[in-house]
Amino acid sequence: MLVNTNAFILKTIEYEDNDLIIYSLTQKYGLVSFIAKGVRKPNSKNIFGLWLYSNSNLDIFKSNRLNKLGKLKTAVINKKYYYIEKNYKYYVLIYFLSEFIIKNNIRDSNTFILYDWYLNNLNQNLLYSTSIIYLKLLFKIGNGFYLKGCYLCNHKVIVGFSIDNKGYVCKNCIKENIDYKIIYNKEFLETINNIYNYNFDNNINSLQQNFNYKIILNIIKILINLIEENTVFDFFILNEVKGVLNLNWQNHKFNIK
Ligand SMILES: [Zn+2]
Repeated sequence: MLVNTNAFILKTIEYEDNDLIIYSLTQKYGLVSFIAKGVRKPNSKNIFGLWLYSNSNLDIFKSNRLNKLGKLKTAVINKKYYYIEKNYKYYVLIYFLSEFIIKNNIRDSNTFILYDWYLNNLNQNLLYSTSIIYLKLLFKIGNGFYLKGCYLCNHKVIVGFSIDNKGYVCKNCIKENIDYKIIYNKEFLETINNIYNYNFDNNINSLQQNFNYKIILNIIKILINLIEENTVFDFFILNEVKGVLNLNWQNHKFNIK
């Protein structure tokens, strides 16, 4: 079946003499992998549409079976994100996000919106956009925080966040359960709530002035711990991600009350 879709190029693997195997995140079908025949020949036009992390318009003979590769007809580039190539920290974070989607086989087409949003916001507000995306992705693989109410009794009036259980806790449940790793800081709870309820139509810059970097960084640390516990990533990649986020942390002026 020949299909036309907008897509991000998540990963390219050299195959045989002239071909590439591509993992793409498409707007219509979610994660789609296909073979691009002959694109490494010098006169290939399609190669420009297969630039890593670019947004392209693809015509693909899509396989109906999940584990069978499709075949590329044409690829035309729409937008290239130059900032990713110019800055290692952005490169690491986009590489990590792309691998996360592929390794966890996140196939729903809604992920395209998240990826698109992240590419357009990462260089505006690295920590805030990363925290939003990591929480959304953890929900997609069934490991998000429990934020609908207290994680024990579902009571809606919450007073803390349990680090161990990754969820809100109410006043009554704190009395009954001795759990020392509970964060009561109001700003922390508000920030988690804002990340959780983030509206992708909003302009992220409008939120920039009123968040606390230290709190966001702590939330990202909890999220990365969850990613480590629930996904398979090699040590090197996760360490690069942590390094990149910490470097950025030191460069910011802190706004701690
Ligand atoms: Zn409770």
